[in-house]
Amino acid sequence: MSLDTTPPWDDVQNYVDGEWRRPSNDGQDVVDPATGETLARVGFSSGDDVDAAVDAGREAFESWQSTPVEERIQPLFALKELLEAHQDELAEVLVREHGKTFPEAKGELRRGIENVEVACGVPSMMQAGHLPNAAPGIDETAVRKPLGVFAAITPFNFPGMIPLWFLPYAVATGNAFVLKPSEQDPVVAQRLFELIDEAGFPDGVVQLVHGSVDTVNALLDHDGIEGASFVGSTPVAEHVYERAAASGKRVQAQGGAKNHIVVTETADLDFAAKKTVSSACACGGERCLANDVVVVEEGVYEEFVDRVLEEARAQTVGYGLDDDTDIGALITPDHEARVRDLIATGVDEGADLLLDGRDVDVEGYEGGNFLGPTVFGDVDPEMTIAREEIFGPVMGLMAVEDVDEAIEVLNRSDFGNAASLFTASGADAKKVRHEADVGNLGVNAGTAAPMAFFHFGGRKDSFFGDLHAQGEDMIHFYTDKTVYIERWPDA
Ligand code: NAD
Repeated sequence: MSLDTTPPWDDVQNYVDGEWRRPSNDGQDVVDPATGETLARVGFSSGDDVDAAVDAGREAFESWQSTPVEERIQPLFALKELLEAHQDELAEVLVREHGKTFPEAKGELRRGIENVEVACGVPSMMQAGHLPNAAPGIDETAVRKPLGVFAAITPFNFPGMIPLWFLPYAVATGNAFVLKPSEQDPVVAQRLFELIDEAGFPDGVVQLVHGSVDTVNALLDHDGIEGASFVGSTPVAEHVYERAAASGKRVQAQGGAKNHIVVTETADLDFAAKKTVSSACACGGERCLANDVVVVEEGVYEEFVDRVLEEARAQTVGYGLDDDTDIGALITPDHEARVRDLIATGVDEGADLLLDGRDVDVEGYEGGNFLGPTVFGDVDPEMTIAREEIFGPVMGLMAVEDVDEAIEVLNRSDFGNAASLFTASGADAKKVRHEADVGNLGVNAGTAAPMAFFHFGGRKDSFFGDLHAQGEDMIHFYTDKTVYIERWPDA
């Protein structure tokens, strides 16, 4: 099969019990952020649609939970091959509905595929332990068991990767799964499920339901769902955490972010400037790992600002499928307006606007949501642009006396998703590793994105729950442990 990459796409549907079904309620248009063209319309699932998906999952779970694990991972091996074979087509669809560049879209799909690969190791990862003679005449064995149907609610910014933080682990451990992707760019999920349909999962093991707030709440309240994973903005993460817990579910909710880069006097400044700009501007800055507050030791502040400006001016803003584009379009006109407002707030609050991306002009794409790289100097930690998530290609630099002050600035943030340090000093690196209150920390790495076999961290207002996405944490989230205590007097 080949995936349809040519819009208009009129086939955005739910996938329930191995069948495609239209969501019951009307929804919203899916719009190309670079052209303003309507690509598709996505319907929103009703409570009955959610019931149908959960019922199908519960029925499938009855036999899937006891299907040998070696059989359960076979569709994942098939899915990996299908994803590899269709990576370019998926990436093209992703660019059309999200606005990021083609290499960025391929990079995100690679990260998704890595999670499918890691979940194929579930036969080893799911083992829990056995101890002969744990007590006189007694052997004890711990086992991990799947629980039932799990849901994941995912954001717009990585529509090809984030569903795969969850789905492969849920099904490999023997659960059934329901995905509710972002309504802003749902077609990638649609294409992903076309491949899932081909990969050979039994009907009902994986379902896709499209929708918005009401669909999410129907999932969170549903008695037939054991647990929910959420990735998105902090206010919604908090809502999901509370609402899912209120009906007794397991829940992990990853929220928004405000991340810092620390640059010390010993850093390779050229390398650090390159990584700073790409960290803040890649995917249009619409990344929970975007480091957009840049805290620089004062001895190299002026020199570093110059290098950042040089690097930022070299970025090309444009259409995501054009080869020379570095920064694509923002997701919606409303979001673009919000980022523009935050830039204006930065100016009003006294930051020094060194590079203004608001005048960007992308020839041939006048209807697109574009913003150029924007650089502020002399930012104060109390300014709005230093505290609030911007989610656009905007960065703010500030000078500090030393690494201690830099750590103090970054730990003052309400968020704790990620940070990066550029230094040649092992002592500085050790200090930041010990003292920075963040879940992902890069040292001489601009974007602290862990591989799939490590969990994806996050602290403070960036995370609600205890077990994170990816890797071993997912095995713990998707299973519960039982201990068998056995005595055989005649043995
Ligand atoms: P969002 O919170 O608006 O939406 C996320 C999901 O929640 C969507 O599926 C949406 O349909 C649903 N939703 C939206 N409002 C809701 C409500 N009131 N009640 C119930 N459900 C609701 O987030 P977004 O704009 O799609 O994504 C961007 C945000 O996600 C940013 O804040 C970013 O930092 C965050 N994010 C975090 C991580 C992480 O790992 N911490 C990763 C990616 C994105």
